[in-house]
Formats: sequence, structure tokens, C-alpha cells
Amino acid sequence: MRQRIGLLGGTFDPVHFGHLRSAVEVLERLQLDELRLVPSARPPHREVPGASADQRLAMVELAVTPGCGLQVDDRELRRDRLSYTVDTLESLRAELGVEAALFMVLGWDAFCGLPSWHRWQELLQLAHIVVLQRPDYNPDMPEVLKDLLAARSVDSPERLAQSSNGHIICLSQTPLAISATHIRGLVASGASPRFLLPDAVLDYIETQGLYRP
Ligand code: ATP
Repeated sequence: MRQRIGLLGGTFDPVHFGHLRSAVEVLERLQLDELRLVPSARPPHREVPGASADQRLAMVELAVTPGCGLQVDDRELRRDRLSYTVDTLESLRAELGVEAALFMVLGWDAFCGLPSWHRWQELLQLAHIVVLQRPDYNPDMPEVLKDLLAARSVDSPERLAQSSNGHIICLSQTPLAISATHIRGLVASGASPRFLLPDAVLDYIETQGLYRP
């Protein structure tokens, strides 16, 4: 049986239950051996995050409790230059070999932005793509992605088992309309984000004084 590794990249500023629940559901639905959360270093498409790279990594490590089935992969933070997903996938391929199946997990919003990613057309040569529905996001997508979906999507997880890369699967999951932007906004306005993210992460935000104006 080939190894099956899932990756959920993000700024995780901060990590929340939308990320964690999605990760666990993908792990189970696709019967992965591992699902790694991969905090991004200097995100090419996003404004500078509110917490430092070390703080974002610390929050992800606090969220990933023993036994939850998730892991943290900090390779993008250890790199000393811009982190592109294609570089991360190439580095994983070099470690895991051609046989391992890689699953790059993206929320719907992130998938719709794919054509602006560095060397995006090469991503499917390195991994499968798993697209997750996200509540409150616009269902419109660029034409080029509609064509890609028509050519590459499969409708059952079993179809993905036959290859190590190259397919797209859209999964529905428990909809959780949680975003890091909303959590930062709550903290900035003095409101509590409790129960939108793990208590350990909230405690860390409070002790570090993150996201306050
Ligand atoms: P921000 O609000 O700062 O943009 P975010 O909450 O979207 O942050 P990211 O770190 O950008 O979090 O997200 C990482 C990945 O997780 C992306 O692919 C994103 O689409 C997905 N994601 C984030 N929140 C959810 C959610 N509630 N449900 C499903 N997927 C999610």
C-alpha cells in the first residue's frame, strides 16, 4: 500500500476549529496515514500576518494534541526565502519518493485563487488536490479552473487510491463558518473568540497579547 500524506497549508493566524475539523474529516474520509498542518512563512499572496512565524507555529503545535491524528510540518518556516507551495511539494516528494500519494487540501476560497500561485500548473504533477467547501464563499470560479475540474476531478475517494498525484476531489464537510480574520477582529474589539478555537490557543493569544489594537 502506498503511503498517503495530506497537507493543509495556511497562515494559521491563528489556527481555529475550521482548520482542525476540516483536517480531521479529510484524514478519515481519505484514510490518510498522516495529515500535516503546514504553516506558511512569508505568504506570497497575503498581507503580513498579525502574529510572528514563531507564534503561529506555537499556536498550531498547541492545537495539535496527542492522539488527534494531526501533525505539524514546519518546513516552510525553516526556509530562508519565499515559500511557495510547489517548493514544499517538491521537497516532500524528494523525501517520500514517487510512490507516496500526496493530498494538498485547500478551502474553496484558496482553490479559486490557484491561478495566481507560483507554477500552479505543476501542482497536480506533484499531488492530488482536495477542495473543501467553505461556508459563505462565492461559488464563482475562474474559467480555467472549471476546465481543470472537468478534466481532473473524480467523485470518489477510491479513485484517488490508484495514483500518487494528478486528480482533484471536492469534499463536503461539516460547515464551520470560522475565519482567522473574524477571530482577530473579535480580539481587537475586546470580544472573546472562545469556542471558535482550542482553549490552549486562546490562552496563548491572551498571554502573548496577540491581535490587540
Ligand atoms: P484569514 O481569515 O486570515 O484569511 P483563514 O481562516 O482563511 O485565515 P488560513 O490560514 O488562510 O485561514 O487557511 C488555511 C486553509 O484552510 C485554506 O485553504 C482555507 O481555505 C482553509 N480554511 C480556513 N478556514 C476554514 C473553514 N472554516 N472551513 C474550511 N476550510 C477552511
